[in-house]
Amino acid sequence: MIEVEIEEKLYNRFFRDVKYENYKKERCGILVGKKINNELYRITDIIEDENPISQSPFGVFRSTEHIYPELIESIKRNPDTDYLGEWHTHPHGPDSASFIDKLSIKTMIKNPIYGNINWVILLIISKKTENIIYFFQHRRYIIGKLSIL
Ligand SMILES: [Zn+2]
Repeated sequence: MIEVEIEEKLYNRFFRDVKYENYKKERCGILVGKKINNELYRITDIIEDENPISQSPFGVFRSTEHIYPELIESIKRNPDTDYLGEWHTHPHGPDSASFIDKLSIKTMIKNPIYGNINWVILLIISKKTENIIYFFQHRRYIIGKLSIL
């Protein structure tokens, strides 16, 4: 079982502007944190792409350039952390990753431009209190659990 921890205060940042949640477009970004052991990971920062390449109620594609400088800053503040994975919202559902979501993560893992990573966490925020964690390794994935501390 893969468990991913996040402090509640940080988790709540996914739900800003919650008033318009149901009408909003998908939002996306990256997760920063650390691997505690093979089964436990901790999110220590979330970075949002405020200006994605494309954004609609049913899809979002982020730009690497928008986020990279913030990732570097985040790692400087907490040198024992690193890129952990991706997050995006599904304000209109479903409560799971789409075929395209899974395919794009698998493509990332295989792409040498992302470095030597062989695993990536994907967090889907579906509704205010619902979320799902995927842990991708190589070409496969398993479902994990998000623990809000
Ligand atoms: Zn999605």
